[in-house]
Amino acid sequence: MSSHSLNDSQPIARVMVAGTGVLGAQIAFQCAFSGVDVVTYDVDTGCLERANTRFDQLGHIYAVELGATRAQIEAARARIVGNINLGSAAAHADLVLEAIPEDLATKQSFYRALSACAPAATIFATNSSTLVPSQLVSVTDRPERLLTLHFAHDVWKHNIAEIMGHAGTDPAVFGRVVQFSRRIGMVPLPLRKEQPGYLLNTMLIPMLLAALGLLVNDVADIQTIDKAWMVAKGDCIGPFGILDGIGMTTVYNVTRALAERTGDSTHRRIAEYVKTHFIETGNLGESTGRGFYRYPDPDFLDPAFVSA
Ligand code: NAD
Repeated sequence: MSSHSLNDSQPIARVMVAGTGVLGAQIAFQCAFSGVDVVTYDVDTGCLERANTRFDQLGHIYAVELGATRAQIEAARARIVGNINLGSAAAHADLVLEAIPEDLATKQSFYRALSACAPAATIFATNSSTLVPSQLVSVTDRPERLLTLHFAHDVWKHNIAEIMGHAGTDPAVFGRVVQFSRRIGMVPLPLRKEQPGYLLNTMLIPMLLAALGLLVNDVADIQTIDKAWMVAKGDCIGPFGILDGIGMTTVYNVTRALAERTGDSTHRRIAEYVKTHFIETGNLGESTGRGFYRYPDPDFLDPAFVSA
């Protein structure tokens, strides 16, 4: 089918957001706040209920940080509908924004199921931090309509959108997604080719891994490592504060996959550290109130330091 018959000159008006965790909830709320109709999809109703709590928190943040009015926040909430049935959730979506866990097998099985039920015109965009779209091509029925739209944590203020296709992505689809990202208040950053980690994470992940390496190799404690970055760079957040914001599920998935790939002993110790200190204790970072720091009011230069 040609891209024209699929109306790729039309703006994207309706999206489905798959996965309503840390990033999915932020993406859904930002889209709705920008006037886009959103269906959120997750594995069970408990997840969608937790997403409602996240939307409450985001409403408060948008009021405080962006000066959003009660009417704007209520209108955004009214544009979001939750659905745990994939077929009906995707039925009217121009675009699926996928923010499910950073695990290739999980994503592949999701795209297989989505391909079987989404309308032919629906564009698939993954928010994956480390995968590239060509790793998902074989499990979709529409390679030309597959690409990434990658957001940064705290989408309302760190508002970049990294847009990356694979060799077979239709340029009209790519352009439409660039346009959409602008519409929802993002600064579009189009990439010319596939790059694992895109632009930001290609720079950021080595820094975060270096900080974790300093910790697990017992070179210095968390506060000292963060201070080195913050004081010297004049930054208001250090690597461990950034990791808390990302959330330990994603941090664990990324570090475990890295350790498996490289076999490096520091990478293995990092993944083990994240697992025992955070995954097994349920302290998953800022969103759960505890990670490397306590929340909601961490004082990064004098933190209530929780990890021994
Ligand atoms: P998360 O663990 O907070 O949330 C994942 C959500 O997906 C959960 O609500 C879970 O119930 C749901 N889920 C699991 N399996 C599913 C399935 N088969 N179908 C639908 N929903 C499913 O994860 P996150 O941190 O929001 O990360 C999601 C994606 O976004 C990952 O690919 C990650 O790399 C990427 N990302 C994360 C960040 C970040 O800072 N956390 C930033 C940019 C991109």
